[in-house]
Amino acid sequence: EPCDRTLLVTGGAGFVGSSFVELAVARGARVIVLDALTYAGRRDNLREALASGRAELVVGDICDGALVRGLLAAHRPDAIVNFAAESHVDRSIAGPDAFVRTNVVGAATLLGAALEHWRGQDPAAAARFRHVQISTDEVFGALGPTGAFDESSPVAPSSPYSASKASADHLTCAWHHTFGLPTIITHCSNNYGPRQYPEKLIPLMIARALAGEPLPVYGDGGNVRDWIHVRDHSHGVWLALTRGRPGRSYCLGGHAERRNLDIVRTLCRHLDELRARADGRPHADGITFVTDRPGHDWRYAIDDTRARRELGFECSYDFDEGLRDTVRWYLDHPAWLRPAHEEDLR
Ligand code: NAD
Repeated sequence: EPCDRTLLVTGGAGFVGSSFVELAVARGARVIVLDALTYAGRRDNLREALASGRAELVVGDICDGALVRGLLAAHRPDAIVNFAAESHVDRSIAGPDAFVRTNVVGAATLLGAALEHWRGQDPAAAARFRHVQISTDEVFGALGPTGAFDESSPVAPSSPYSASKASADHLTCAWHHTFGLPTIITHCSNNYGPRQYPEKLIPLMIARALAGEPLPVYGDGGNVRDWIHVRDHSHGVWLALTRGRPGRSYCLGGHAERRNLDIVRTLCRHLDELRARADGRPHADGITFVTDRPGHDWRYAIDDTRARRELGFECSYDFDEGLRDTVRWYLDHPAWLRPAHEEDLR
């Protein structure tokens, strides 16, 4: 459906945010991206959106309340969609402070500015306004072999990353219940697709395999994640923004549960087909099992019945095809596999 909304998309130069910006621009929205361009954000992720003339990038921090209020006053957006976050679990174990700052204080800064902006609008604009907080299935903690998370699952985060995301969710709910701000929260499972920073499982394994380096798998590789294509996630966020009910949260899943070891083996198989190793051996020979991540959640799965019923959400990517296309994309874009800072991967 076409759209004449103006959106402030924070964290829009990252992996998921830039996919959402592309989708929003294609639907006719005008987008102001606010992104600090940390190691994970790249201006180049927005190349097509910026070229369309319907998006602009403001480089800045969501913790900067004056900057956020200035952008809201200048552009009077119909929504804020917050993707800005520190997003890597391993980094949150090595250094949690940045996670508390951006994911908690930053989210609260946005909520405070959103409330002022919303209260200052005329009734029609205020009724239209939405504040969308992008969350994760990780806030619900770990599952056993059966069952799935839904919107009523207890919040029980395990890592500093998921705890910071859960904190932002609580704040977002409080701004709705206490102040009436029309908020929406989405909880999505693991994303895959083009332009993911090469610290995350899929691009990291591809990068290491291509470099002939060992492929480190945590524990016995048995941890299970549900995988969704980043464009399906973006589509779900768009539906939550345009059709969601204020005060509600929506779980978005990919219906593709896979063990980490199976992901790595599948990547190796695709790589074998597309690019042989210099020594002629299968890429899977590089798999090595390393000490498990502390507090590693065993399994995540999502029941997205609410999003299907209320938003008409459906995934359009088949996981196995989507993963193969993703491997091809990284092979065609080797520059994406080089981290901004080499030491990031050590
Ligand atoms: P990412 O790390 O690729 O991107 C994060 C973006 O936020 C970057 O562009 C970065 O520059 C920006 N940013 C960081 N700190 C900032 C600050 N203080 N001010 C402004 N911008 C800042 O992360 P991603 O994978 O694209 O995830 C985006 C959002 O989606 C996150 O909130 C994450 O929790 C959520 N999410 C991601 C996944 C996934 O699998 N990738 C799954 C579910 C939910």
